[in-house]
Amino acid sequence: MPLSPEQKAEIEASRGQTAQTLRVVSPGMEAHLYTAHEVLDHGFVRVIDYMGDDSAICQAARVSYGKGTKSVQNDEGLIRYLMRHWHSTPFEMCEIKLHVKLPVFVARQWIRHRTANVNEYSARYSIMDREFYIPAPENIAAQSVVNNQGRGEVLEGEEAARVLEILKTDSGRAYDNYEAMISQDGQQGLARELARMNLPANIYTQWYWKVDLHNLFHFLRLRADAHAQYEIRVYAEAIAAVVADWVPFAYKAFEDYRMGGATLSATAMECVRRMLKGETVTQETSGMSKGEWREFEGVLRG
Ligand SMILES: Cc1cc2nc3c(=O)[nH]c(=O)nc-3n(C[C@H](O)[C@H](O)[C@H](O)COP(=O)(O)OP(=O)(O)OC[C@H]3O[C@@H](n4cnc5c(N)ncnc54)[C@H](O)[C@@H]3O)c2cc1C
Repeated sequence: MPLSPEQKAEIEASRGQTAQTLRVVSPGMEAHLYTAHEVLDHGFVRVIDYMGDDSAICQAARVSYGKGTKSVQNDEGLIRYLMRHWHSTPFEMCEIKLHVKLPVFVARQWIRHRTANVNEYSARYSIMDREFYIPAPENIAAQSVVNNQGRGEVLEGEEAARVLEILKTDSGRAYDNYEAMISQDGQQGLARELARMNLPANIYTQWYWKVDLHNLFHFLRLRADAHAQYEIRVYAEAIAAVVADWVPFAYKAFEDYRMGGATLSATAMECVRRMLKGETVTQETSGMSKGEWREFEGVLRG
């Protein structure tokens, strides 16, 4: 359970309060505001605040005095033009603030995205919760034999059961020792800032994460991608679903040009031109390395 009844009540109370504003609001985003979208076994993503909508991107691009919107087609066309030509600063005019609960090993990957503002739950000040990510059986997989940085086939039978048992007992034992070390019952009690070093990387942490839309798209491009580790990808996918409702035109353009699009080198473009002229191009005649050719074929096949 990622949320206690008290936390759920707080969220409901926040959603029960409304205020009038002169600012633009995104109806799609209002529906998500404060609501926790569950991710993994104890995690979640929820929107705490946001600024702007599709019209704010157009407003900034046109440097308008008013709302900046023209016709709907006009706005969508402008947003697609901006995305297509990497004119990124208008997208920076929209911001989102998220509350995320996530395992520490996922947070280590996430924090590499430096173009955001972060405030994390303090394990010096507070006691960590006894909450550990234990993968669902279908996500316990063997080391991939083709990709050093990934997983392959799902582990089965006795080995899978043993792995699950190790994860559960080690997490539980580490937390029991954490509690024993910080306890002030008949002893001084170790400082929380020291006791936490013995906790495993699958323990959950929480943070507030604020980022503008341009840098969020960059994060989603990398982390909602099939090459990203499953455990961060599911967070990126949950955020992507929210963004699709927040700024539908911008998200559609992002899906089209970035998620679904591809970048080709000059050598690859030359191969495409030769192919269009009817020439049979192979890796040997392409001027590309084996790896480049494999990826190029992947792009062409889809
Ligand atoms: C599939 C995958 C595998 C990865 N594997 C590894 C790994 O094995 N080891 C590892 O260490 N990391 C790894 N990473 C992390 C990766 O190298 C990046 O650190 C991470 O994706 C953040 O990207 P970023 O720097 O572009 O994002 P941000 O920090 O959000 O930066 C966005 C952009 O701002 C600019 N920028 C930001 N800060 C600076 C700066 N100080 N100087 C210059 N330009 C800046 C850059 O143009 C950058 O692209 C991996 C990431 C992915 C998606």
